[in-house]
Amino acid sequence: MQKLLNPQQTEYFIVNENLIIQETSAEVQRFTDIPGDAIPGADARVSFPELIGSENILMSIIRGQRPSFELKGIARFTNNNYPLYFNILAIEHEDDRDSAGKLLILIEDVTEKMVMKQSLIQRANEANLLLSALAASKDYIDKVVRSMGDALLVTTTLGTIKTVNQSAQILFGYSEAELIDQPLSMIVVEEKLLYQARHRYILSQKELLRELETVCNTKTGEEIWVEFSCSAIQTELKGLYDFVYVGRDITERKQAEVEIRRSLAKEQELRQVKSRFFSMVAHEFGNPLNTVLFATQILKEYGDEITQEEKNQYLEHVKSASKHMIQLLDDVRLLSNAEAGKLKFNPAALNLQKFCSELVEEIKMSSGKNHPIDFVCQKLVAPDRKNDNSSEKTQNFPVVDQKLLRHILTNLLLNAIKYSPNDSNIYFELNCYNEEAVFIIRDEGIGIPAEDEAQLFESYYRAQNVGKIPGTGLGLSIVKQCVDLHGGQIEFSSETGLGTTFRVEIPFYKQREID
Ligand code: ADP
Repeated sequence: MQKLLNPQQTEYFIVNENLIIQETSAEVQRFTDIPGDAIPGADARVSFPELIGSENILMSIIRGQRPSFELKGIARFTNNNYPLYFNILAIEHEDDRDSAGKLLILIEDVTEKMVMKQSLIQRANEANLLLSALAASKDYIDKVVRSMGDALLVTTTLGTIKTVNQSAQILFGYSEAELIDQPLSMIVVEEKLLYQARHRYILSQKELLRELETVCNTKTGEEIWVEFSCSAIQTELKGLYDFVYVGRDITERKQAEVEIRRSLAKEQELRQVKSRFFSMVAHEFGNPLNTVLFATQILKEYGDEITQEEKNQYLEHVKSASKHMIQLLDDVRLLSNAEAGKLKFNPAALNLQKFCSELVEEIKMSSGKNHPIDFVCQKLVAPDRKNDNSSEKTQNFPVVDQKLLRHILTNLLLNAIKYSPNDSNIYFELNCYNEEAVFIIRDEGIGIPAEDEAQLFESYYRAQNVGKIPGTGLGLSIVKQCVDLHGGQIEFSSETGLGTTFRVEIPFYKQREID
């Protein structure tokens, strides 16, 4: 009994075989259902209705058939709403003065224990609820991350990948295992930009590259454009952050942008070509047309008054103006044919040295200017060919397209003459190698301003320093097309006021290819 009940908190009452109270301890009233009823002579079941129904058991204790009977966790709700919990233990009461059987009913106040137990149970329930809520929310977040259409990567500050979702694996072609613990630089080409942004964020807590378009490598080596948005999350360790990257494949958009930019540039270039073309037509056709108009008017109005010799002179003006216009039209047609891919490459064996010296003579005569042209030819052929007496035979001549070569050299030589003072020297060098010829045309003329160099081969383009020197801006475009058809190269170096040197490399067409 000592063990079961704490004597300080234990009250008691004694009942006879009819459960009539015989005696009570002082504080029993605290535990009764109806206050004030637990008094000697009263039926114990009135104040402790919990005993109702247990009469037989209680009797069996009095008869010595059972040692005790216990009722646990009886609750009373007092007026001030504080709960009261107690246990009842009934045992036989031996009374020396009276032989009739009695029961000692002990009451143990267990309110404190019960309240504590209840609050523990409540805490445990709350903790369980919290745990399942956490598990549910983790599951939910996992589902969201997994179902995201955008690629998601979480990295450490140093850029080591910690988490990836399904879309990231699909986008970059790597499995999760291949990505985890790898540096972000494995996929992001310009990772150092992201790295610097992470460090700036850690230092300032402010600035983070929120949107970044960058090139990434997939596992197959393909380059794709990805737009990343980035955010930082504080880890459980203070001052340490993880970085969340959400990436979207924007390769198609980027390609479209490049395409649009290219076609805009093309359109702008076409617009410029068109406007240069019109200004060329206005300039170049204006003069000869005026000449024709003027000469024919004179002949019509004053035909009877002027001498035959004067008439012939006017007719000669008309003829040369017409020839000039025909030449211009020929050039325009030639260039548009070349640009449309209609200009054909017809290689044939050609005695280059002879061809060049005849061309030089022709140009000297036709240019009308008094320009000395220094023509030098060097044969730098391999030794086994040097003593070959059959060099005059057609099959040993280099194979080139004579017509295209004529366009190239005529244009370059006429330009050298046109853009140089009358009596200055023109140097024309032909260097023949085994497989190619290198032509060098050098003048001491006005030169080409550096800012015009890049556009010089564009149709109808003329440098800003041409002044009143006539021209169409067609020649060099034609030259370039002809060099390209030969698979050759053209370059120039120039200094304004000092002169210009053009260098053209023409590879020889392989003999066996035309056999
Ligand atoms: P153009 O009919 O104007 O001479 P080209 O296409 O032959 O047309 O040449 C384009 C431009 O290149 C010329 O207008 C001129 O500005 C420049 N150019 C070409 N060759 C020379 C050169 N030898 N010296 C100086 N400028 C040159």
